[in-house]
Amino acid sequence: MLKFEHVSKRYPDAGEALIDVSFHLQKGEMAFLTGRSGAGKSTLLKLIAMMEQCTRGNIFLDGQLINRVSERKVPYLRRGLGLIFQDYKLLNDRTVFDNVALPLVVSGYQANEVARRVRASLDKVGLLGKERKYPLALSGGEQQRVGIARAIVNKPKLIIADEPTGNLDPDLSAEVMHMFEQFKQVGVSVLIATHDIELVHVLGYRVLTLDKGHLVAS
Ligand code: ADP
Ligand code: ADP
Repeated sequence: MLKFEHVSKRYPDAGEALIDVSFHLQKGEMAFLTGRSGAGKSTLLKLIAMMEQCTRGNIFLDGQLINRVSERKVPYLRRGLGLIFQDYKLLNDRTVFDNVALPLVVSGYQANEVARRVRASLDKVGLLGKERKYPLALSGGEQQRVGIARAIVNKPKLIIADEPTGNLDPDLSAEVMHMFEQFKQVGVSVLIATHDIELVHVLGYRVLTLDKGHLVAS
């Protein structure tokens, strides 16, 4: 599903953020990405999200080479990806429905199909009935679930999450992780960057560890 082959990334006027990183994430596999601040976690996720380009190596998403893709193809390739952020990145002046619908509207789906899929996504994260609320009227855990509903509404093959539980207490973090496990069970691959070593050990999935840009354990 996701393959890194000897991937390096250097930012202009900075050292190497990633150095010769290779790994393979299978379909339906869930894994954690850990490492100290500055180890390269965000950079690795940004390469997958096509927000940055690697300087060496190859990255394959579902068999397609995604480094060096033309700007024109990026929106199309991103549809296969669900992105989840620590700070949710919701639009606070739009309802829950409109936030979750956004990727579908961008993809040009018809209104009735949008409504059907948005409800299905909200149902999966336990937020059916909150469609008309605005994000700031929800708790932090609920806001993150809106972010998750938005990430899955396009039925992505891979979900990548950057510190998704960074702003949540342990109970809510466990709830969010449980949701990721459910996606994994239906064949979605999940890669989660986190500092929360305790949570990682409790759950017992594969751990990819970065140290100063090197993948030191997998
Ligand atoms: P985290 O440790 O939570 O991953 P960082 O504080 O490392 O976050 O980075 C936050 C943002 O700032 C990221 O988008 C990252 O790419 C960017 N960033 C980090 N270091 C630099 C830098 N030296 N120059 C410019 N941008 C940076
Ligand atoms: P992490 O997410 O593990 O905290 P990052 O990927 O944010 O690590 O950062 C890895 C390294 O790359 C750090 O040294 C950081 O300062 C540097 N870096 C990240 N983003 C940028 C950027 N946009 N420009 C320059 N350097 C960056």
